[in-house]
Amino acid sequence: MPLLESWVESANSPDTDFPLNNLPCGVFSSDACEPRCGVAIGDRILDLAAASAAGVLRAADPRALAAPGWNAFMALGPETWAAFRAELTGALSRNASQRPALEPFLLPRAEVRMHMPFAVAEFTDFYAGRNHAFNVGTMFRGPENALPPNWLHMPIGYNGRASSVVVSGTDIRRPWGQLKSPDHDMPAFLPSRRFDFELEVGAVVGQPSQRPVSVAEADAMIFGFVLLNDWSARDIQAWEYQPLGPFQAKATATTISPWIVTKAALEPFRTSTPPREKDLLPYLREPAPMLYDIALEAALAPAGKPETVITRTNYAEMYYSAAQQLAHHSASGCPMTVGDLLGSGTVSGKNAAERGSMLELSWGGKEPLTLDTGETRSFLEDGDRVTFRGHAQGPGYRIGFGECTGTVLPAIDKPDWA
Ligand code: CA
Repeated sequence: MPLLESWVESANSPDTDFPLNNLPCGVFSSDACEPRCGVAIGDRILDLAAASAAGVLRAADPRALAAPGWNAFMALGPETWAAFRAELTGALSRNASQRPALEPFLLPRAEVRMHMPFAVAEFTDFYAGRNHAFNVGTMFRGPENALPPNWLHMPIGYNGRASSVVVSGTDIRRPWGQLKSPDHDMPAFLPSRRFDFELEVGAVVGQPSQRPVSVAEADAMIFGFVLLNDWSARDIQAWEYQPLGPFQAKATATTISPWIVTKAALEPFRTSTPPREKDLLPYLREPAPMLYDIALEAALAPAGKPETVITRTNYAEMYYSAAQQLAHHSASGCPMTVGDLLGSGTVSGKNAAERGSMLELSWGGKEPLTLDTGETRSFLEDGDRVTFRGHAQGPGYRIGFGECTGTVLPAIDKPDWA
């Protein structure tokens, strides 16, 4: 698929995250308007609510696009998704006759505020990266027991909290929690000393289900993808995780990018999951490639200092696709909802420079990273800003996600009851 040229000149640059081929979905507000749906095109954002209300765009109900989230639009279903995308692509293409009518609804992206792109119905996080699971398992249980016996047979996950999912740019408070004290009988209640990020991709469920669905049906239910940072307190996690898995270690916050990159935009970048080490049960087999080739990176910037890119990896490293995760999630009859968010699990490559968390990059704190500023890090310090970026690379263009960023603030003062 070549670059689709647009009359919005900034969308034709090979460096922009937002060429006409992308058209990612966000929610913005400005001094002149309340939060509403828009798509990014080059350095502009198209006010879809206003363009639809004016009758310039007709493929989707204007009321859905005036909402402060893409849920109502997603609920209209895949036929509307495709029709709307086709209409937008045509209207923004180089020689489109709609240009004069549409131009008044374009705003500079630098002048708008971005909000959560959709209301998260429920949040589930998986543990579907082979390298991450092996690395963490090795540190927690040793290399012989690194992968639990179920790992190669199903995507392991846990039900997270929708309430703590926040949009990129939101500050993140270092959590307090119960930490094991190796030298004392009693654990201690302290701010986490091993606060971390997890570099993930989140799948946004755009259609509901009330019964178990196949992997192919699950793939069709997915609307798009976001970058996702599953902030993690490793010291809280290490003490609490057995036997039921993560709880408070993951409950502080999860940051997502302000843009949902649609499955349609990523279609040319589909790729297969890696070879199976054990055959999967039929209900989990992929009938076609359902993973995507998306280059990912994480950068860390100490307060007031320049950033260092500390890892580069690729979403194609995942052992299970989002469609497999969704099929597994539904297998019990668990109803899935428009706006459900599924975290991929930390995306780590095979090499040390491709690890998707500080826990792995510093190998549990034993091998601190040296930043370009000369400072070292085992885990995140107060004031550190973590920024994720991701894109699929086409010939002469990229399908980007924008940034997923958050700054770690100091823990709150100790509560007087604690
Ligand atoms: Ca995670």
